[in-house]
Amino acid sequence: MSFVRSSCVLALLLTALPSLATDALPTPGPGKPLTVHFFDVGQGDAALIISPTGKTVLVDGGPPEARERLAARLKELVTGPLDLAILTHPHLDHLGGFIPALRAVGARRFMDPGFNHPSEAYRDLLDFVGQSVGQVMTPTPNPAAPHTLLTIGLGEGVSLTVLWPRVPQEPFLAGTRSDANSNSIVAKLTYGRTAFLLVGDAEPDTEAALLQKPLDLSATVLKVAHHGGRHSSTAPFLEAVKPQLAVISCGAKNDYGHPAQETLARLGEVGARVFRTDQDGEVVVSSDGRTVALRAHGGTGPMLVVPGELTPGPIALGPVEPTSPARSQGPGRKSGEPKREAVVIVPGPTATPAEPGSATPAANERYISLKNSKVFHKESCSTLKRSKSERTIYSSRAAAARERRPAEDCHP
Ligand SMILES: [Zn+2]
Ligand SMILES: [Zn+2]
Repeated sequence: MSFVRSSCVLALLLTALPSLATDALPTPGPGKPLTVHFFDVGQGDAALIISPTGKTVLVDGGPPEARERLAARLKELVTGPLDLAILTHPHLDHLGGFIPALRAVGARRFMDPGFNHPSEAYRDLLDFVGQSVGQVMTPTPNPAAPHTLLTIGLGEGVSLTVLWPRVPQEPFLAGTRSDANSNSIVAKLTYGRTAFLLVGDAEPDTEAALLQKPLDLSATVLKVAHHGGRHSSTAPFLEAVKPQLAVISCGAKNDYGHPAQETLARLGEVGARVFRTDQDGEVVVSSDGRTVALRAHGGTGPMLVVPGELTPGPIALGPVEPTSPARSQGPGRKSGEPKREAVVIVPGPTATPAEPGSATPAANERYISLKNSKVFHKESCSTLKRSKSERTIYSSRAAAARERRPAEDCHP
């Protein structure tokens, strides 16, 4: 089963903008703000953008265990189908609640990196969006202007610009800690002097690639990468983003130790105030283009207001060229292929293969789950050493994968 994925992103009915006009500062007043809800979905990610004109963009669909909660919350906040649903990358903690969410409110368009990830859940999602969502697309830069960024206008001067990935202008990152994470959709949402940087589970390689490009990465609010994991959010990246507010989406007492103390320390060093969905519940952040107001606990907590300090202007400060042409090609489109207008997604084999980027398991490697955990680890994983809780031992990866999902720290 396969379907054709449209890459004519410029056909988006949302206005496609060449760049932000520097003098188009929105006037604060009685108009509706730009609001981003960072949902409390446990160990995973899901956020909803509502623009001042009521355009809605869902970014990720949380883990399977949050599916009912997410669908119900979307029904409260969204009338009519989502204008765009983005899956930053095909990991279960971002896609587990996606189908119920789309069933609950619908979507006009679906965008994901187009990275081949042969898991059953991802295949099911692609089948579902292929049948029920009008347009399925990847963030392909405009072929007529390949050195610019793809920008989607959301009305009233609000725009969402995709910084990564840039296939086919650049290959997917490959040979990284997790290639699925590394090729997360990274997008900057801008409104006047304020901006949100949404980075999915971006890895240090993603951050390094972005830092090599002539990009304005500065943002008032950062959705912290990979649930606050210790590898991402490198010091040079945080120095470029300079977030005043940082939101970490993670589950209470999660198996991964997210967020890592090192990451919290690095965020502190750049002066970011940190909010965590495991402690603060749903974090609601609004912008009128000049100031940003944050309230935790679903918008019922005390309001924290910070002034937007960014200089409105284009995000690409020059031609965006491929950074490292010597890097090997990822498992997506082959570099030798001619440029095409549509990408055909072919589901992988039915057996559960290894995650992209993971090493072939040792012949006698065993797999372990901790009590009440939904994930399994390699026996050699250091996370297991930190926990004394009861464990289930599996003699094969296939046996473990039948009951639980692979942990994101050791990628079994
Ligand atoms: Zn994740
Ligand atoms: Zn991930």
